Amino acid sequence: MVMGDLVREVDVVVVGGGPGGYSAAFRCAELGLETLVVDPGKRLGGACLYEGCIPSKALLHVAGLKAEAERAKEFGLDLGEPRLALDSLRKWKAERVVGRLSRGLAAVARAKGVEIVGGRAVFEDSRGLRVDGEEPQKIRFKHAVIATGSLPSPLPGIAGPSDRVMDSTAALDLPDVPERLLVIGGGYIGLELGQVYAALGSAVTLVEMTDGLLPGVDRDLVQPLARRCEKLFTAIHLGTKVAELRPAGARIEARFAGETPAFDRVLVAVGRRAQTDGLGLEATRVRRDARGVIEVDDRCRTHDPRIYAVGDVTGEPMLAHRAMRQGKVVAEVIAGRPAAFDNIAVPAVVFTDPEVAWCGLTESEAGRQGRAVKVARFQWAASGRAATLGRSDGLTKLVVDPDSGRVLGVGLTGPGAGELIAEGALAIEAALTAEDLAATIHAHPTLSESLMEAAETLLR
Ligand code: FAD
Ligand code: NAD
Repeated sequence: MVMGDLVREVDVVVVGGGPGGYSAAFRCAELGLETLVVDPGKRLGGACLYEGCIPSKALLHVAGLKAEAERAKEFGLDLGEPRLALDSLRKWKAERVVGRLSRGLAAVARAKGVEIVGGRAVFEDSRGLRVDGEEPQKIRFKHAVIATGSLPSPLPGIAGPSDRVMDSTAALDLPDVPERLLVIGGGYIGLELGQVYAALGSAVTLVEMTDGLLPGVDRDLVQPLARRCEKLFTAIHLGTKVAELRPAGARIEARFAGETPAFDRVLVAVGRRAQTDGLGLEATRVRRDARGVIEVDDRCRTHDPRIYAVGDVTGEPMLAHRAMRQGKVVAEVIAGRPAAFDNIAVPAVVFTDPEVAWCGLTESEAGRQGRAVKVARFQWAASGRAATLGRSDGLTKLVVDPDSGRVLGVGLTGPGAGELIAEGALAIEAALTAEDLAATIHAHPTLSESLMEAAETLLR
């Protein structure tokens, strides 16, 4: 018998070992289901651990330290000129950050009895799939969870003419620090990685096709970040599209805004698309929309009764914590427990300097819906803690139902906004009112007081 003839029978096969897949697998195993994960890397972590959240946040931490060291001069502390050892930075990111977490996930899988099979899964029908690659075999399943994530979208109409045109995965490898970097896309990745490269010493030019950075996010939350980027970046071109990229010697010439400047590298960050190609879904009843996004209901069920899907492959918002929550929900559903992905607030955090975070209903979305809301703002200029940090440029805002006083949305800009948004998500999920926030004692001096202070303005 050759390996490819082997047929395994399991309760649950999870296709893809990212945050959605491993969260589903771990919870399935805890609920007593025999569970197996298929992933080409034969490892858990997915895009989030190896080419997304974790490496980007490690680099942003370093960028943040450099900015802090520069700010420290204002307080009379001169730490000297920071010097970068690129090899040490790459090694720290790969081994001490990503490697350590990767080994941790492998240990959890072993402890829970979740097996990981190396290879790409291809569905053969609604009960079985084959694994191509490292460990070829056939798997019969009672239930399957598709968690194959997403891939960077290419720039429409423009072929990547050289390896100097990078996607986020290539950029996170830090091939070098280009003298001149063009970033295409002013969303999450363009801003986070643009700030990383600017901190490392690149002259960054950013091109965004809409008329503002982070389109869709409330403008007052974006403004402090936009101001910071104007200082950090060499140029920002809004309402602009790159019409052509072409090699010019060792550089890349880009045509936009009537000019053709040359760059040492280009980062394309214009969104991500669901990864479903080659999965064999045509052999199942799973349905995809025109963008390849798998259609699911609030229990993460596809149109095929035995097949579920979680994470980026199910569409926006493509965030790791959403994938993880869906993963836990799907395991409960498979185990026959009452569960649904019915969260009202999926927090979003852009880990730039300053951080921008929001959850629930935004002021702009309320406007689009024509929904009456009360909005409370607290400028961090009045925060004692912000003053001690030398960071008074932040903002906290609450979007509240005018009749019931319920908190419907929370937005934050400033250092630590990504941590503070947890209180907002909890307030929304627990149906708390502005009065509840105002009456809760928040430690002093902390930035969390800004949520209480914003709530108090509504009670006056
Ligand atoms: P993924 O993590 O994409 O995992 C899918 C896995 O499936 C992969 O390992 C893939 O190899 C595997 N796979 C694909 N096809 C097959 C197949 N046929 N058979 C078997 N396996 C297959 N989100 C946040 O919440 N916070 C952040 O700070 C953040 N930062 C990010 C930074 C960057 C640069 C990027 C690119 C993304 C970031 N994200 C962040 C988004 C986050 O990475 C994703 O939302 C998250 O990884 C989605 O998890 P997932 O489980 O759906 O899929
Ligand atoms: P994005 O959707 O956040 O931003 C893409 C940006 O590119 C948008 O502003 C869009 O208007 C612009 N754009 C699109 N086409 C363009 C063109 N032809 N020319 C110029 N600009 C163009 O996408 P992203 O930054 O690639 O990130 C992908 C996804 O990954 C995010 O949406 C998010 O779900 C996830 N992510 C999350 C985090 C985080 O949670 N901190 C960090 C990175 C990525």
